[in-house]
Amino acid sequence: MTSFDYDLFVIGLGSGGVRAARVAASHGARVAAAEEHRVGGTCVVRGCVPKKLLVYGAHFAEDLHDARRFGWEVPECRFDWATLRHNVLTEVNRLCGLYIDTLEKHGVDMILERAVVAGPHEVRLAGGRIVSARHILIATGATPIIPDVPGQLHGITSNEIFHLEALPARVLIAGGGYIANEFAGILNAFGSQVTLVNRTDVILRGYDEQIRDRLLQIARAKGIDFRFNASFSRIERTADGFLDVSMSGQDSLEVDQLIFAIGRRPKTDDLGLTEVGVDLDAMGAIVVDADNRSTVPSIHAVGDVTNRVQLTPVAIREGQAFADTLFGNKPSRVDYSFIPSAVFSHPPLASVGMTEVQARKALSAVHVFTSDFRVMKNVLAGRNERALYKMVCNAENGVVVGLHMIGPDAPEILQAAAVAVRAGLTKADFDQTIALHPSMAEELVLMK
Ligand code: NDP
Repeated sequence: MTSFDYDLFVIGLGSGGVRAARVAASHGARVAAAEEHRVGGTCVVRGCVPKKLLVYGAHFAEDLHDARRFGWEVPECRFDWATLRHNVLTEVNRLCGLYIDTLEKHGVDMILERAVVAGPHEVRLAGGRIVSARHILIATGATPIIPDVPGQLHGITSNEIFHLEALPARVLIAGGGYIANEFAGILNAFGSQVTLVNRTDVILRGYDEQIRDRLLQIARAKGIDFRFNASFSRIERTADGFLDVSMSGQDSLEVDQLIFAIGRRPKTDDLGLTEVGVDLDAMGAIVVDADNRSTVPSIHAVGDVTNRVQLTPVAIREGQAFADTLFGNKPSRVDYSFIPSAVFSHPPLASVGMTEVQARKALSAVHVFTSDFRVMKNVLAGRNERALYKMVCNAENGVVVGLHMIGPDAPEILQAAAVAVRAGLTKADFDQTIALHPSMAEELVLMK
């Protein structure tokens, strides 16, 4: 029988890789894992976690303002980016440390250098050492796409935002997806003049149209400028040190900072994958089967590098299923139906299941219920901002097939409601639940 140095070698210690390594080790596998940057990956180091902390920080702009309407004497407040940046990065360091501790406690051999695939069972480390493993798991994630435009290097991506020396007075955010809308809200709240530029005339493609429209309307009212149907032609640094961004479809803009948020592509460059027979798709994603196995049976992949659903909790589930199946004698697969998702914009939006348009295509009859309301807190604060909840039902049996919300705390509320939607409950089940009053969430059981 062939002997290997390890049962599993994980390349990439982000959400999916960390979960797979830890669970495989807890099942008794001999595990090694390599990470070329920092343990924790995109979510912990330069994504979900620091972003959410900035969202909290940004919210104080409105909260401090509104507090006066609730009787608080709030002195003139000043925001200090350096303080928030320092505290956020300190928290990120703490979390990275916790991830390392957990892996060490589980006996995972951590190798903090780049590793590439050298054969179906072999990995080559940056230092030249070759390590063998019965199974190799690629969990290298994704990386921001930079458009091929002259002067592209003048732009930054979400990776760099958390380290900015100073916040830009004027910022252009390219893209209309998650990152663009989240950072548009954050930077606008911190006082930057934000212009969001997208190639088409939609934001947040894939989300329900009414919910997207509501965000657009509220974001515009908050002062964010949206420019659509534009494509970049040239980016130049001016003599004054500003950026001159030329576009077709829109007038050129002079800004202090340009942020590209036009999607993320799987990180498979120079990993030695195609050389050993691992198939990649047109985006460079590793093609895997339902058990996360690539076209080379000993090489697997989970998370963003497979470009299935680019969300942390999905990568974690994939890592868990991979490790349970191969090392825990518990075959399991990820159920990709009814994945809840949220955009931490200002206000946030959240969604699970089919949009109205998707439901009308998929079902013979659809019933839509909405609640369009002014949140009690906003009324007293004098904030003219309406929340919108939308329930999409199969008209034949009343089953809720989609739930879409925009308004304060929408992601917190939707997570709980997603359990009911996934369980196949009906509108009548929601209605039979007594409202919890006064709350925003009660609208879910009072929809007309
Ligand atoms: P998204 O896929 O969300 O959005 C990409 C945006 O860029 C779209 O508006 C798209 O336009 C536009 N675009 C795509 N390609 C090009 C191009 N070649 N040139 C110009 N514009 C382009 O990407 P993000 O970068 O915002 O985020 C990456 C992924 O990270 C998300 O898909 C999401 O899965 C994940 N993420 C999740 C978060 C969350 O859960 N809250 C937060 C942040 C990221 P159009 O649609 O009009 O074609």
